[in-house]
Order: sequence, then structure tokens, then C-alpha cells
Amino acid sequence: MQRQDRVVVVGAGPVGLCLALALAQAGIPVCLIEQLGDHNLLEQVPRAGTNHPATLEMLDRIGLYEKIEPRGIIAPVFHYRERHDNRLIAAFDHIHLKDDTAFPYVLQCERIKIVDEAMAMAKAHPLIDLRLLTTFTGFTQGIDGVTARVVDPAGEAEAIGGSFLVSCEGARSIVRKDVGIAFEGFTYADRTLNVEVAYDFRQHGYAERNYISDPTEWSNLFHWKGPPDRWRVHFPTAPDDDAEALTQPAALQVRLQRFLATGRDFDIVASNLYTVHQRVAQKFRAGRAILAGDSAHVNSPIGAMGMNSGIHDAFNLADKLTAILRRGAGEDVLDRYERQRRHVAVQHTQAQTMRNKRLLAEQDPLTRQRNHDDLRRTADDPARAREFLLRSSLIASLREAERIE
Ligand SMILES: Cc1cc2nc3c(=O)[nH]c(=O)nc-3n(C[C@H](O)[C@H](O)[C@H](O)COP(=O)(O)OP(=O)(O)OC[C@H]3O[C@@H](n4cnc5c(N)ncnc54)[C@H](O)[C@@H]3O)c2cc1C
Repeated sequence: MQRQDRVVVVGAGPVGLCLALALAQAGIPVCLIEQLGDHNLLEQVPRAGTNHPATLEMLDRIGLYEKIEPRGIIAPVFHYRERHDNRLIAAFDHIHLKDDTAFPYVLQCERIKIVDEAMAMAKAHPLIDLRLLTTFTGFTQGIDGVTARVVDPAGEAEAIGGSFLVSCEGARSIVRKDVGIAFEGFTYADRTLNVEVAYDFRQHGYAERNYISDPTEWSNLFHWKGPPDRWRVHFPTAPDDDAEALTQPAALQVRLQRFLATGRDFDIVASNLYTVHQRVAQKFRAGRAILAGDSAHVNSPIGAMGMNSGIHDAFNLADKLTAILRRGAGEDVLDRYERQRRHVAVQHTQAQTMRNKRLLAEQDPLTRQRNHDDLRRTADDPARAREFLLRSSLIASLREAERIE
């Protein structure tokens, strides 16, 4: 059935699901297209997991927060640490944001659990027509509508009509490529090694989230709720390192022991390598086709901003589409979506994630010392700590975007 007011959302990752739920709860029908099915939707490699305060407020708005909170870890404090002597450089406590948000902490809850819970809500919502095992292949658009081309689970081609098409397909967005929008930026030559281990690092003084500085091998260390309880450690690799050699169990044990010498093998749960891109789409909209989440911007995970800022896109866009489809606003509000969210992607997410990486990997001893002194002074001064946390938790980016007309 062709519904003129229906919004076609491609991709049921965290961004597509949040958008679909926010629109449906505002009374707007959605067709949500996802190539994966129930059997493999939750099998994707480990990715996002730190949910910042501003994101928690949004998830609460659609009733998702209460579902994911029991599956995650509430973490008010995060650390910057020096690797070589495991020294604490600075501890930041989100309690400084108690007057800025109802959620003065991050929730460590992995993307897969968010998708799992949001998918159950989407399945139960009468206004969401969920098409699993359905692959989007392209689209056309006219003055008052779009038609998405998909291949259904039986392998048959189908056309799905709607008022707008939102690409939440992730970084390889077909929509972005089809309309010829450049994905501007660069890809780091080195890949990051992700190792998940069942081991309680808190006994060595670590917080649930740690950014660990070192001129040769910086790391990130994050805690996730089990079972089994696990910690994710990130290590840099050299561009020409052999992928297979890097992920051999013996090589992983050596690297982990170099990180923390326990004298006993770590219980390794999983490992993988990933490539890091810093890119932003030149435009977030081409007529009735709109980009959100990783289709519009990708960045290093240091700082946990990719999924968070993608979810912020989803809520911003849901409000704009609701204004158009329910309150008769002009389509030019979508240009404001682009101005606001592209500004955040370039000026906040890209700038901050690149700065975070430089901070952890800084080679020059004097600059390292200056950076660490500055972090320490910031953490020790409540007013500066609040400013810092407003930025790291993306609240500052949302406030700034609100001022963009
Ligand atoms: C190691 C790592 C750690 C990270 N940690 C964090 C973190 O702590 N915090 C954070 O904020 N971000 C983090 N990120 C980034 C985060 O994972 C992404 O920004 C986020 O998953 C993007 O969500 P999305 O919904 O836009 O896209 P995706 O999660 O990529 O979902 C896209 C969906 O679209 C579907 N799809 C794609 N093509 C088609 C098609 N043609 N037809 C139908 N369906 C299609 C896919 O199957 C998928 O379900 C991390 C990334 C990595 C690699």
C-alpha cells in the first residue's frame, strides 16, 4: 500500500530505530527496511556502547531508557590515565552536570542491546511496518513523494512509496552515493585492535571508562555488563601489520600482559580489527532524501560520539518531519536540520574525536605534560569540569545547534 504521509526509513540500526519510534509515537506511519533478519541482526561486530546524558534523555522520551538501563552499567566517572605507570591523570565526575540533565552519568550499554530492545518496541508499534530481510537497492523521487526499491525476503523486487526517505543505512549509504553527495574527510592508515576480556580491571583502580595515554600504545578500556561481564580494550596497530597475526590468541595475550602484567592468561571473549574514518557528508539532504547517523558522518570511537550524535540526528529530524507532516511546516525546516546537525558533526564530533586521539597519542614529552596538567586542573575545578563535561557529553553541541536558525 502506498501511503503519502508515510516516511520510509532505511536501516534498523540505533539511528533508524530511534527515528522510526519517535515518528510513530508522533502518529506518523513508518516503513522501516532492514536487510538483516531476526537470526543475524544481533550478530554484528561489537561497536558503540557508551550512551551520554543527552542521549539518555532522548531514549527516555521514547520509553527506551527504562528497557536498556537494566542491561547496562551506570558510570558517573571516567578516567584519563597514564599507561606506563598506570597513574591516574584526571577523574571526571558527571555529578557536575546534575543541574544540566536528569541523567548525570553515562550508561554503558552496547549497540546490540539497544537494537534488541528498540526492535521489540518497533515490532509492537502499529504504525511501524517493519520489513526485515529486505534489501534497499535505490530510489526515485518526485515533487511530493519518494519510491524506494527493495528486494523482499523471497528475492522479489518491490517498490515502497512514502513522503520522505531517510537513509540510516550506515557508512556505506546507497542513498548518499546515488545522489552524488561527497563523503568528505579521511581514513586513518592504522587500524584499531579491539579485544574483549572477562577480567575485573576495577581491582587495579580503573573506572568503568578509561582513556589511557601513551606515546607508543595508547588505549581505551571500557566495562560492559554480562554475562559474562567483559572489558573492551582498544590498541593502535601499525598500517602494515598483518591482521591475522594481530588477532592470534598468543599475540593478544602478549599485548594484554604488556598493558597489565597479571602473570596469568586473560580470558579473551572476542577480538576484531576496525578501520577508523573521519568523514562528513557534504550535504545531509537531497530533496526528499535525507541522511542521518553513520550515513551522514563517521568518526573515531575515542569519546563515544558516533552513535550518540547519530541518535541526536534522529530526534532532531523526527521533530522536523513531524512539523511538516502534522503541523503544515514548510520543507525548508529540513534545511535547518542540515545546518544544525552538519555544524555539530564538523565543529563538535569531528573536531573533538580527532583531538581526543591526538591527546592520547601525543609524542612530545613537554606537550604531553602540559596536556595532562591541564586535564588535572580542569577536573579539579568544578566550573571548568562542568564546561568540559558539557562538551564531552554532547550537551554543549545540542545547545549550540538550538541557536542555529
Ligand atoms: C569499535 C567501535 C566502537 C564504537 N563505540 C562507540 C561508542 O561508544 N559510542 C558511540 O556513540 N559510537 C560508537 N561507535 C560508532 C557507532 O557504532 C555508530 O556510529 C553507530 O552504530 C551508527 O548507527 P547507525 O544506525 O547510523 O548505523 P549502523 O549501526 O551501521 O546501522 C545501519 C543498519 O542499516 C542496515 N542496512 C545497511 N544497508 C542496508 C540496505 N541496503 N538495505 C537494508 N538495510 C541496510 C544495516 O544492516 C544496519 O542494521 C563505535 C564504532 C566502532 C567501530
